[in-house]
Amino acid sequence: MVTTPAISVDALLKRYPRVTALDGISLDIPTGCIYGLVGPNGAGKSTLIKCLVGALRPTGGSIRVLSIDPTEDRWRLRRRIGYMPQEIALYDDLTVRQNVRFFGSAHMRHGLDDAVDRVLAFVALTDRADAAIHTLSGGMRQRVSLAAALVHPLDVAILDEPTSGVDPELRRAFWDGFRRLRDGGATVIVSTHQMSEVVECDRVAILDHGRIVVEETPADLIARGARRVRIRRRDGTVEEVPVGDYRQELPGILGVDVEAIELVQEPLEDVVLRLIGGSR
Ligand code: ADP
Repeated sequence: MVTTPAISVDALLKRYPRVTALDGISLDIPTGCIYGLVGPNGAGKSTLIKCLVGALRPTGGSIRVLSIDPTEDRWRLRRRIGYMPQEIALYDDLTVRQNVRFFGSAHMRHGLDDAVDRVLAFVALTDRADAAIHTLSGGMRQRVSLAAALVHPLDVAILDEPTSGVDPELRRAFWDGFRRLRDGGATVIVSTHQMSEVVECDRVAILDHGRIVVEETPADLIARGARRVRIRRRDGTVEEVPVGDYRQELPGILGVDVEAIELVQEPLEDVVLRLIGGSR
């Protein structure tokens, strides 16, 4: 069965007078996955996201999100997606609950109070629900912003660096939450400049200078990494030998005086950085 991708982007171009922010991006994002847009600062992640939600008009190419052209029909699309921009846009004098309620009320009426309670629990802000936004730390505001994006029922969540500046414990809770959203059938697009978050995604596009350097699963990315076998001999010496297909190569490498071996895999972050380096 062929299913329509949640998002289809073809030859997307966004030029500013001095910079080409998106230089011919094409990708299909399948329905019901967590899709990472990964790349260093300035790679084009936010520009791509803004084009996806209809906040920015591309210079060329085409986009379909849930079969809707965001440039033409932004408000019809907004009802079906949750968007967390990188720049936090909240009402400073309103409380956390009032802000989230306000954003939710644009999309839903029935069950709004329950939805607000649920999403505040998700971002661990239940006990600050009645605090005014201007009294919160930057990290907390970011959590309110995420809550505002996710409060209503949605088919696609598009989140611009939702975990930056978030402590490790809450970051883990966020990724658990993104997985729950996905398991409920939603498509979750998350941008990040933290290479370590690649493994949390089902599929990633690595961006650099407005182009896709590579687009695949984290497992395929890991498989691109160099591997070495660390061998400790009986005389106490340790050596590291690069291997390709270690199952074939091991017998020749090992010899008879082996005390212990360990397979050393190049860290995923190093693989990604090497790929980005190679695109320059
Ligand atoms: P990322 O989100 O990956 O950090 P951005 O999409 O914000 O990257 O930016 C991509 C490139 O486009 C950068 O070189 C940035 O300076 C440039 N850019 C973004 N917005 C504008 C703008 N409004 N005017 C001019 N250049 C811009």
